[in-house]
Order: sequence, then C-alpha cells, then structure tokens
Amino acid sequence: MYATSSSIGVFHLVIDAANPTSTLCGLRVVPIVIDRPATSETLYLTSTKPAGSVLCRECRSIDQRERGDDPSA
Ligand SMILES: [Zn+2]
Repeated sequence: MYATSSSIGVFHLVIDAANPTSTLCGLRVVPIVIDRPATSETLYLTSTKPAGSVLCRECRSIDQRERGDDPSA
C-alpha cells in the first residue's frame, strides 16, 4: 500500500497496510483507497505504485534500513 497526493509527484510507504494512518516518514494518511488520480493535497492511499511519482527519500531510507538493505551496496 502506498500513500500519495496529486500534486507533489512523490509517494510514501505506509506503516501498517491493514490500518494505515501514517507513512514511514511520519505523515498522516487519510484511510481511504483511491485507485485513480485525485485532486487533493491530502495524502490518500493507493494500492499500486503511482506512475510518474518517486518514492519519498525518508520513506525509502527507513524502508531500506528496516529490510537491512544497504543502498550503497
Ligand atoms: Zn515519506
């Protein structure tokens, strides 16, 4: 599960897909799923990786740390 908003071109990873209330980087998420582009500044959930958006740097580094991946390897 991913969280994104329409305007920023960045998406985030959510902490708990079963009860998503915030992202790995600590942003609040609206617990609704919108599988299409929405015009909102609010972060909303999407079940597929948003096309044309990049993963938030904080979420990426936290996710890599939790999975034990070394991004420089
Ligand atoms: Zn993030």
